[in-house]
Amino acid sequence: MSDVIGIDVGGTFIKAGRVDTKGNIVKELDEIPTEAEQGPKHVISQIIRAVKELSIKEALLVGIGTPGIISLDRSTVKYPPNLPGWEVIDLGKEIGSAVSTRVVVDNDANCAALGEAMFGAGKNIPSFVLATLGTGVGGGIIIDGKIFRGETGGAGEIGHSTIDYNGPQCNCGSFGCVETYIGRAYFARRVAHKLETRKDSLLHELLKDGGELTPEIISRAANKGDAFAYEELREAGYYLGVGLANVMGLFDIHTAILGGGIAQAGEPLFEGVRRAIVQFSQPPIAESFALHHAALGNNAGILGAAALVL
Ligand SMILES: [Zn+2]
Repeated sequence: MSDVIGIDVGGTFIKAGRVDTKGNIVKELDEIPTEAEQGPKHVISQIIRAVKELSIKEALLVGIGTPGIISLDRSTVKYPPNLPGWEVIDLGKEIGSAVSTRVVVDNDANCAALGEAMFGAGKNIPSFVLATLGTGVGGGIIIDGKIFRGETGGAGEIGHSTIDYNGPQCNCGSFGCVETYIGRAYFARRVAHKLETRKDSLLHELLKDGGELTPEIISRAANKGDAFAYEELREAGYYLGVGLANVMGLFDIHTAILGGGIAQAGEPLFEGVRRAIVQFSQPPIAESFALHHAALGNNAGILGAAALVL
């Protein structure tokens, strides 16, 4: 089997690489600005250019990860957040006909889960749930080595599962979603609010030059021994853990993998997640679950997309 092409379409950048069957990126293009505000036609032409640049001689299979819900035939992208004007686009057909090859499209979080299953922290683990913590909270569920996609392709959206029906309203319209506790902006806003009464926190010192309160700064303060920052990360992890415990219990899955920016905070966050899983799971899971860091890091997008066609 020959190399394949993996493409990760983000709201800001498109990442593209050529990947061999063992999961090595053998050639990677410089990040291409998505320029999403110029509309779908422009983004599609950017993707086509990247495929052509990586193909050279022969037509290679192409896997593409995008935000949004992807049709069950893994070709049509529906209402991707961060890509204005897209609504419903048959991306597989648009790209496939332009470069004469087979194209498989899936949701970026599903791609990340599949990538971890083939090459990362989920290798040799038949079933697991992956949560990707970024601007939003994405999720993917792997059952017996395959992505669980649901009836219309929208399964695994752990970020929009409700953990408190009296909770804050989410961008999605619902209330108390996991994302409203650990999504980047929501998390930072909650911590900023509490920080006003915590004059002892190191965060005041770290922000004194007018810096923005971000999960990274909170994580830095926690690593420097700031009790307030540590507690906030642990609490955010606890909320996430409630959502994970629900998924793990429903599907009888015993492994969770955490990836994305805030996951790098490490122990405080993981401690909170573990506490919640123990507290909200039945004994078979509470006593024997495993929690791992995602292993693919910055390569997750390209490798996950490539995994669709490997
Ligand atoms: Zn939501």
